[in-house]
Amino acid sequence: MKKIILFFLFVFLLVPQSVAASSTFNVKINNKNTKVNDVNINIDGKILKTDFKAYNVNGRTFIPIREVTENLGATVSWDNKLKSATVNYGDKNLVLQINSNVVYLNGKKQKIDKNSVPRFANYSQPRKESKTMVPIRFISETLGYDVDWDQKTSTVFIKTIKGDKIDAEEKELIKDSKPVKESYGNKNNEFISKNEKKEMNKIEKKSDKEIYKAAGLDVDDIKKERKITKTIKAKGKVSILIDPGHGGKDPGASAASGLQEKEITLELSRLLRDKFANDDLEIEMTRDKDEYVKLLDRAGQANEEDFEIFVSIHVNSSDNRDASGIEVLYASEKNVEIKEAEQKLLAKEILDAIIKETGAKSRGVKNRPDLIVLNKTKCVSALVEVGFLSNPQEYDKLTEDQYLDSLATGIYKGVKSYIDKYVE
Ligand SMILES: [Zn+2]
Repeated sequence: MKKIILFFLFVFLLVPQSVAASSTFNVKINNKNTKVNDVNINIDGKILKTDFKAYNVNGRTFIPIREVTENLGATVSWDNKLKSATVNYGDKNLVLQINSNVVYLNGKKQKIDKNSVPRFANYSQPRKESKTMVPIRFISETLGYDVDWDQKTSTVFIKTIKGDKIDAEEKELIKDSKPVKESYGNKNNEFISKNEKKEMNKIEKKSDKEIYKAAGLDVDDIKKERKITKTIKAKGKVSILIDPGHGGKDPGASAASGLQEKEITLELSRLLRDKFANDDLEIEMTRDKDEYVKLLDRAGQANEEDFEIFVSIHVNSSDNRDASGIEVLYASEKNVEIKEAEQKLLAKEILDAIIKETGAKSRGVKNRPDLIVLNKTKCVSALVEVGFLSNPQEYDKLTEDQYLDSLATGIYKGVKSYIDKYVE
């Protein structure tokens, strides 16, 4: 993703003026005459021909919104009063608004970069007309298509057909390794399983009070005024709840070999629990067999049994096979009203230790206040994504006992370091 944006920047920095001049045209954007760059759009191997030409400006390619409907298989509706377009494709619902960097994906607010903001453009060719212009890369990726950019020919390549247009080199790679069988990775390389999606849909229909109750929390107990602390006080032995992601009917991510995320998370969680054997701590797991535990029940156990530390274990997956590395997620106390301690501190300690132990690539710590196991647990919580099943190299590592052990050691050291520094 970043690489592609850099490519765009390159095009702008390096293309000599004379060449650029021959491939630019003018449109009025927000009533300002703007020189834009010619760009080709290639969808599934065919160059897209449009009445009103797509263009590239500030490194982003825009097309008239009607082209999205006709060529990407999505349906689009336009609200003239709100100046907003709704794009529907499969289970995806995307709302964009003219001159606004706020978009809604399935009702969730997101921000797009300012160069991708949808605009009206007035064309003078082939006839005078005002068009609603939308950023094709953002929309295509949101719909789950592969998007690529070729600098030499100024072409955006979009693949809407999965597996059909794979070139020989890619085919070789797939044969050699173990591609993901089922993945719901999105452009941020986050994985959410079908079952979790289902549960989230159910949760979204519940009232706050019901959700809190299901997570063992009382909505009336939530303090209006909190004092956020760096340190936490243990009520006795420090207690840690280890949460192996997925289980039972929910396999999580899967590889073509049949290896499933739920198996790795359980094995790794057991290894982690065993590391604590000689410490004077209280350790439990949300599951110790192959069973499905609801997200709210996982949080509920943490809350009802008053655990001090909650660590969820997951394996990542993405449609992008290059995506790799370890990341640790937390839900910031700034976004989650039930938290009373700084959440990022635990995530950082775990990430630092696990990277040191495994030498894996760090994807950093990330604030994810939308995740139930993080936002409905009162205590300090972190979710470790230990690597990508969809990445051939990481897949191989994740099948090695020794590597799993080093992951467990890393998480163990991170939690211990957190306790040393922040538990009174
Ligand atoms: Zn997972």
